[in-house]
Amino acid sequence: MQALLKDIAAIVGPGNVLTDNDVAQRQVDWMSGASCCAGAIIRPGTTAELAAVMRLCHAARQPVVTHGGLTGLVHGGEAASDELVISLERMNAIESIDPVSGTMTVLAGTPLQRVQEAAAEHGLQFALDLGARGSCTIGGNIATNAGGVRVIRYGMMRQQVLGLEAVLADGTVVSSMNRMLKNNAGYDLKQLFIGSEGTLGIVTRAVLRLHPRMTSERTALVACPNFDGVAGLLAHLGRELGGSLGTFEVMWHNHYALLTEESGRNTPPLPPHWPYYAIVESLGNDDAVNTAQLNAALESALEAGLIEDAVLAQSDAQRQGIWNIREDIEGLIQHLAPLFTFDVSLPIPDMPGYAMELEQAVQQRWPQGRIVVFGHLGDGNLHVSVSVGDGEPVTRRAVEHIVYGPLAELGGSVSAEHGIGLEKRDYLALSRTPEEIALMRTLKRALDPLNLLNRDKVLAQED
Ligand code: FAD
Repeated sequence: MQALLKDIAAIVGPGNVLTDNDVAQRQVDWMSGASCCAGAIIRPGTTAELAAVMRLCHAARQPVVTHGGLTGLVHGGEAASDELVISLERMNAIESIDPVSGTMTVLAGTPLQRVQEAAAEHGLQFALDLGARGSCTIGGNIATNAGGVRVIRYGMMRQQVLGLEAVLADGTVVSSMNRMLKNNAGYDLKQLFIGSEGTLGIVTRAVLRLHPRMTSERTALVACPNFDGVAGLLAHLGRELGGSLGTFEVMWHNHYALLTEESGRNTPPLPPHWPYYAIVESLGNDDAVNTAQLNAALESALEAGLIEDAVLAQSDAQRQGIWNIREDIEGLIQHLAPLFTFDVSLPIPDMPGYAMELEQAVQQRWPQGRIVVFGHLGDGNLHVSVSVGDGEPVTRRAVEHIVYGPLAELGGSVSAEHGIGLEKRDYLALSRTPEEIALMRTLKRALDPLNLLNRDKVLAQED
């Protein structure tokens, strides 16, 4: 590897080949803080440099792992000592914004929040939003097909990307930097790289789709007396808000109570209710109209018995206070560690039964076990956290069987938005058919026959 690193240093500059302590100091796992074990970290500054690096790696059959902001939650950034990390941290820039077409061209290492802020400066918005916005990168968002809190209104990352550029395992640069909404000239190749978690190519640039900025964003926290209320409220708001429903996030009482009164970490905006809370947001361009519409919709929901209490945020601070409860993952970790977290999707009507059976199954085996549930319910996506008193891999395995086991029969997915990485690889067959997995392997072999890119992630090695 030393000879290869010397050749790579000649391309990217010696200061951009990190080794030893510089590698070990890098945390590759957001949850555990585990250190990087790679042979070296390479930091190309341009697509041309990266392509040249990959040509060398290909010739030397050197496997690589790509790093964006390292906020991924399925161990996709883990690298062994015989692997090199390709970090996109120097490829951090907004190249151009076209307000007429509503597009932004960025380098893949640009943080999501920077993209959001740049769009806002032009009276536009980039619609992807998630808790890790300050650290995660556009390349990582593309590689994981990230979801977040606006999917119900704008879709996932796939819907925000018009074009991209990627470097293949052999150093070939595929430029598919389409800027139009419509382009049916043959296969839509960008889709190969979106959601493939760095296994088919390294994304270097992207053309992002921007939307008109919504100047009014009204946020309410509501309490629902039962799941029929939650599901009914979702349908009710969809109807009454006429397409302006921007967020529908639900917290089970176990999440809300832990992160407010039990831990004292957040001030509860509503007194205790049982058993569900929802954060709903209405987006518009006339604040008076938007507010009146949301107020009216909540009043009629109250009259219909779908909700039993509600508070409408009156300031940014109040809005943030509501969101802090939902996004307080650090609080969850602090109070429930060791903690196993899961990101699953399933049909909305099946959610209450699934969550209840999960809790029963966990407590049957670990009487002191706790479950906390919240999620992007409007998207059919739940985040489940399980704490049973130890964090051993064998215990995690037992909990995984309980969490993932029922999903196949329900038509759900072991990964709603975080991807498969290493963590869920053994459960892929619960959510994909043998034919689908065989086609994934065919694509992997076609684009990366030497298995150099994020090897062993998503698909287990064939015997
Ligand atoms: P990384 O963690 O660096 O990488 C993730 C994967 O993508 C790895 O397999 C990596 O090899 C690959 N990769 C990274 N960059 C590239 C590239 N340029 N080309 C090819 N492959 C690449 N996710 C959601 O979907 N919705 C949420 O609401 C959400 N909330 C979160 C909240 C918190 C507090 C945290 C910590 C994470 C959350 N996540 C969420 C997960 C995470 O933020 C996303 O998966 C994000 O898209 C990862 O981006 P990243 O730049 O950090 O990627």
